[in-house]
Amino acid sequence: MRIGLFGGTFDPVHCGHLAVVDQVQAACELERIWLIPAARSPLRDAPQASAGHRLAMCRLATADDSRLDVCASEIERPAPSFTADTLRELTVWHPNDVFTLVLGVDTLAEMSAWRDTETIFELSDIVAIARPGYATHLPPALLAKHPGVAKRVKVLDAPASDVSASDVRVRLAAQESIEGLVPSTVAAYIQRHGLYGATKRL
Ligand code: ATP
Repeated sequence: MRIGLFGGTFDPVHCGHLAVVDQVQAACELERIWLIPAARSPLRDAPQASAGHRLAMCRLATADDSRLDVCASEIERPAPSFTADTLRELTVWHPNDVFTLVLGVDTLAEMSAWRDTETIFELSDIVAIARPGYATHLPPALLAKHPGVAKRVKVLDAPASDVSASDVRVRLAAQESIEGLVPSTVAAYIQRHGLYGATKRL
């Protein structure tokens, strides 16, 4: 099976992530996409919500879509979460599947600083989705480090959505509406648990 691996902090998962999934499935022949919440990304601040909450929200966001699954592999390993380790692990567990890494172009720009990128390019192709405010050409630092990378990376030029998790968190902390920014089941979960400064509503 051809499987897309969509990693991130998902703090929280939002409609931009789901738009990415739709766009990738329309453009690439992926039979499934797995959301993989990180325990903690090595290059980012610690997430605000616990791993358990982020995992639960990813499960709610994907519950009604049979193309989507949630993989807890990174949350089950000690932090920080390295994508190369995840790919190595999943390749051993699923030897007959073919993996494509799904990410936004903002993340593509960070990749030259990642650990063990040779392993990543060896074990997967990459599809990167445009995001408002970020360039869609291959980052020069990544090309310099891996001259053959152009063959492994496909960039989808049309932005999927301008929603970001940081914007959702800021709105919640300011008691503003997040309607339309996260799936309704995720919004209800956030309020039930009073996450991100939201007023707790049972
Ligand atoms: P934050 O605002 O906290 O940085 P985020 O919205 O970027 O969070 P992440 O969970 O860090 O969300 O993102 C996971 C992956 O999804 C990353 O590869 C990111 O580039 C991508 N992504 C998130 N939102 C979008 C979007 N609106 N369009 C395209 N890619 C996106």
